[in-house]
Amino acid sequence: MAEPARPPVAELRGISKIYGSGDLEVKALDQLNLTVQEGDYLAVMGASGSGKSTAMNILGCLDRPTSGTYRLNGMAVEQLEDDALADVRNRSLGFVFQQFHLLGHASAMENVMLPMIYAGVPRDERVERAQSALRRVGLAQRLENKPNQLSGGQQQRVAIARAIINRPSLLLADEPTGALDSSTTAEVLELFDELHQQGITLVMVTHEDDVAARAQRIARFQDGRALTGCPQ
Ligand code: ADP
Ligand code: MG
Repeated sequence: MAEPARPPVAELRGISKIYGSGDLEVKALDQLNLTVQEGDYLAVMGASGSGKSTAMNILGCLDRPTSGTYRLNGMAVEQLEDDALADVRNRSLGFVFQQFHLLGHASAMENVMLPMIYAGVPRDERVERAQSALRRVGLAQRLENKPNQLSGGQQQRVAIARAIINRPSLLLADEPTGALDSSTTAEVLELFDELHQQGITLVMVTHEDDVAARAQRIARFQDGRALTGCPQ
């Protein structure tokens, strides 16, 4: 018998997100459909305010939709309680932000080990895996440095190492090079390319055409919907 097809890594169907109420109501997402298959590298583009970050936050289980369904590896995440959702976020999703969002008082090692503490990984393994992840992003010489002792590009590498440390099924990056200069941007994009070639499924928001050109496909957002790049 043929193997059953694997479900998509992420599948958004009819996702709407409404902020506020009454006169102040904002429809950030309007019946969004988006499918991400294993091994994809999807770039998300669109004008400011078109709903890109809202969609990323929902994909990353940082926020819940007002309506619609989200299946992550076939599992309906909108039905999960908050604790279970936090667990899914920790184990299955990695998130990289424009402003890095590292813990300022913690070293690169400590920042990268944190998600493994939540996941219950034993200490020896945490140390070994964090060292190897930081090596993988080119920071073997910066293990004990704190964020304010690192350049922007190095901080983003720490954030990327932290995002991949629990081997997520989906890596999400919302304008990850938006705060970086052009040569650092090139290095960080090179790193995302490598991670993708190593099998990581990646969704990245960007404003830059040359950044998006590195992806396999582009979803263009307008008024809370994806116009192109998303075969239904
Ligand atoms: P993008 O990332 O494409 O710039 P966003 O997803 O951040 O767009 O925002 C989509 C729309 O939702 C915008 O009109 C924005 O002002 C609004 N919005 C986003 N977050 C909130 C929030 N927490 N409260 C109210 N409105 C919000
Ligand atoms: Mg945004």
